[in-house]
Amino acid sequence: MSSHQPYSFFKSVEKSFDKAAKFTSFDPGILEQIKACNSVYQMRFPLKRDDGSVEVIEAYRVQHSHHKAPCKGGIRFSDEVNQDEVMALASLMTYKCAIVNVPFGGGKGGIKINPKKYSVYELEKITRRYTSELVKKNFIGPGIDVPAPDYGTGSREMAWIVDTYASLKPGEIDAAGCVTGKPVTQGGVRGRTEATGLGVFFGIREVCNMPDVMKKLGLEMGIKGKTVVVQGIGNVGYHCAKFFRENGATVICIAEHDGAVYNPAGLHEEELIQFRNKNGTILNFPGSTTLPKNSDALELECDILIPAALENVINGDNAQRVKAKIIGEAANGPCTPEADEVFAQKGILCVPDMYLNAGGVTVSYFEWLKNLSHVRYGRMEKRFTENQNARILGQMEDLTGKKVDADERAYIMHGADEVDLVHSGLEETMITATREIMEIWNNNPNIPDMRTAAYVNAINKVATSYGELGIFP
Ligand code: GLU
Repeated sequence: MSSHQPYSFFKSVEKSFDKAAKFTSFDPGILEQIKACNSVYQMRFPLKRDDGSVEVIEAYRVQHSHHKAPCKGGIRFSDEVNQDEVMALASLMTYKCAIVNVPFGGGKGGIKINPKKYSVYELEKITRRYTSELVKKNFIGPGIDVPAPDYGTGSREMAWIVDTYASLKPGEIDAAGCVTGKPVTQGGVRGRTEATGLGVFFGIREVCNMPDVMKKLGLEMGIKGKTVVVQGIGNVGYHCAKFFRENGATVICIAEHDGAVYNPAGLHEEELIQFRNKNGTILNFPGSTTLPKNSDALELECDILIPAALENVINGDNAQRVKAKIIGEAANGPCTPEADEVFAQKGILCVPDMYLNAGGVTVSYFEWLKNLSHVRYGRMEKRFTENQNARILGQMEDLTGKKVDADERAYIMHGADEVDLVHSGLEETMITATREIMEIWNNNPNIPDMRTAAYVNAINKVATSYGELGIFP
C-alpha cells in the first residue's frame, strides 16, 4: 500500500484477481460476475448496556457468491469492521472454498465492536440480536448461509448463534448446521479449534518438502530446524506456533498488538499464554528480549514468517525490510498487492491466505456434514476396524511366533476416532491444494507468484461451476 492512498482491502482483492484473470480465457462478463459481491446486508440495532445506557451497534453480513449453496464464512468482532473489509473477506471465502473443493459460496460477517470493552452478558445480547436480524432477512440457515468464528469470536459465540437460530426455527431438523465452530456439546466437531493452525502447518510442510522450491530459496528440505516468527497469538497464531514447534522448528519470535518477544533459542507458546494470562501482556516474558513494536517482528531474519492477525500488515511501506524466505499467510489479507511486487523482486515465497488458511473452513465443512448426517464421525466403523485389526495382529503373531510390543500394538489396533478422521481429511485437503497450485505455477512460467497461481485455480473452478449450472448458457 502506498501511504498516500486510503487502503481498500476489497480493491486489493480485486487487483490480485485481475492479475490472475489474465491467465484464464473466460468471458469478461463471467469474470465480473465472479468478482462482484452478490448481497450486502448492513444493519444497526440498539444495545442496552449494563449501565443502562443505549448504544447503536453497526453490523454486516456479506454474501459474495451464490454459485454454490450455502454461503460460508466467519463473523468478526472488531472495531475496525467496515463494509469494504467484510466484502473483501467474503470474496476471499469464495476463492478459498473453491481451491480446497469445499462446496460453498463465500460469505462473511462483522460486528463493529471491540469485544474487550463489553461484558459477557452484553456480548451475548449482541450476538443473539445479530442472529435474529439474520433470520429475519433469511441470511442464515444450513442451506442459506453458515457463519463460523473469525477474529474476536469463538465457540462461545457460535453456541449463542445456534441456540438463537434453533429457538426461532422450531422443528428444523438440520438447525445445528446453521453455524460451525460450535462447542462439541452443541453439535461441533472435534478438531475444529486447531484446524486453521494445523492447516497452515500442513500447507507449509508440503512446500518445504518440494525439492525444487527449497533449492530456489536456498533452504534445507523439511520443517525441522527452520526458524519461525509468528505475528498474533490468538487461536490461529497459537496453533501455528504449537505445530511448528512440535515438529522441530524453532519459534524465535511471537508478536502481539502491544509488542513482541524474541528468543533465538525458541519460545514455548503455552508458557507464553500462561504468562500473558497472569500479566495481561506477553512483554518481558522471562528469557526473551522485548521488541517495542509489533511490526518489528515482521522484519526479523527468519526462514518462515507467519502473520496470523489482521490484514494489511505487510505493504508497500515495509515489504522491502522483510527478511523471511517464506511467508505463510495465516491471517486473511496480511500482505497487499504492493508487497507481492516486492516479494517477487526479492525472491521471497509468499504462500497465500486464500488456500493456506483454508483449514478452518475445511473442518467447518466436516462439521456441517456431521450436522446434516446427525452422526459422529467414526461411530459406525471404529469398533469394526479395531476388531479386524486385532484379528490380523493375532494371526501375524501366531504365524511368526513373535509378539508385537505394546506401543505398536496400540497403534495398529486403533480404529479411527472423529478427531483422527478430521485431521486426516484436513491433511489430505492441504496437500492436494498445495500440489494443485504449484502445478499451475510450474506449468505457466509467466505467472509471477503463488497467489496468482492460487487465484487462477480458484477462478477456473468457480467459472466452470457457473458453466455447469448453466447460469450463462
Ligand atoms: N473465519 C475462518 C476463515 O476466514 C473460517 C470460516 C468458516 O469456517 O466458515 O476462513
